[in-house]
Amino acid sequence: MTLIKTEAPVNFKVDRPAVPREVVRRLLVEVGHRCAVCGEPCPLEMAHIIPWRVSKAHDIEDLICLCANCHERADKEKWGQETLREYKYNPWVLRRHSGREEPSASKRVEVTLALDLISFTELDERLIIFALAAFLDIPTTRIRIASVEEGSIRLTLELPRKAANQLLEASKTGSEELSDLLEGLSVQSISWPDHFDLIGIKAERSGEDNVVLEFAPLPPGLLEEDLVEVALLFGKPKSVSASKDPVFERSYLRITVSLDTSKRMVYFLLEHSFCGREFRVYRSAVDFLNLEVPDDRVILVAAELLRPTLTNPGLGARALRMDSKKAIA
Ligand SMILES: [Zn+2]
Repeated sequence: MTLIKTEAPVNFKVDRPAVPREVVRRLLVEVGHRCAVCGEPCPLEMAHIIPWRVSKAHDIEDLICLCANCHERADKEKWGQETLREYKYNPWVLRRHSGREEPSASKRVEVTLALDLISFTELDERLIIFALAAFLDIPTTRIRIASVEEGSIRLTLELPRKAANQLLEASKTGSEELSDLLEGLSVQSISWPDHFDLIGIKAERSGEDNVVLEFAPLPPGLLEEDLVEVALLFGKPKSVSASKDPVFERSYLRITVSLDTSKRMVYFLLEHSFCGREFRVYRSAVDFLNLEVPDDRVILVAAELLRPTLTNPGLGARALRMDSKKAIA
């Protein structure tokens, strides 16, 4: 016979104890501190999947975190246990990231628009990104505009590999859903990029007094020997290595030269349109080599777009557009 009960004290007036703090904490972690349905961050409420009046319990398995709005809707619209459980096991925070892959597993896609550069606005940029994100069911932050070129506008987008393939397939087969979403956005074609007119130069330290200059993307028409030839004008390279990135489908060339040679080589390439290609230098290289380069020869952020930390998808496009506008003027 038990004389002492060890259960939590019950407030008989209210008849319903608060959800224990530990349970609340675990539920909040479960949903990433966001409403399980809509992702609203706070304040959040603990909703009973099995109504309290039935269960008279605060079991973790029978509770779900919702915002006040969704909680009210769930009650009013009688979503029911099955729906609520679906949200519990697949809360917003997981659904949102379900399309996420390794940041490196991305691929480029070229979108050509029937627009001129001037009439292509920030709003167009956003509309395209949002339309494609909706079609591909991925977060907008996973679509990045890597470059914008003149003429009829050619956007180079960077997408998760799977999404890129899906987009190309949909475009090829003339998907109605895709054309509906892109309606009014002047999209002419979607294809794999076949060339890059712009060659970026990066620089990083190598040992005491040496610099690795990296040229990418290296188009097929430009021979590695040509660049080595340029390096030889200013000093003998310490090493040369070429590689191909299977993910981005582009070639790199790395030439190790002395600090002095690297500077002179960069200046030379920026000054001369070499093999019909235009060279631009990355901001990080400008800073590292302490170069004096006009702004319109500097790539501000496009390279940085490859980094998963940069979440502003339009930044690179705007930077490059500014360049192009200057070039037109
Ligand atoms: Zn909500």
